[in-house]
Amino acid sequence: MPAQLLCPRCQQDWVRPYRFRSDGTPFFLCTECDSLWWPDEAIDEAQAHFLDDVVAARLGVGGNPWSSRVWGDVIEPVLDIHC
Ligand SMILES: [Zn+2]
Repeated sequence: MPAQLLCPRCQQDWVRPYRFRSDGTPFFLCTECDSLWWPDEAIDEAQAHFLDDVVAARLGVGGNPWSSRVWGDVIEPVLDIHC
């Protein structure tokens, strides 16, 4: 992917590579609007997931997953994603 890809949803920030700390699953994230894409997906507005929904589903919690944890507990930025 290009070194810097502007978020197609909010166009306010770059889409950056991240991973889940628990198992290293990689994904792309815009930290401005919390849009998430999996590496095999096109990074466009129609494909965007919402970080809170993905994290809640992975952790098996309902509603807001950030009431008892912070981003750094669950995800971390990485330099690049190789897929
Ligand atoms: Zn965005």
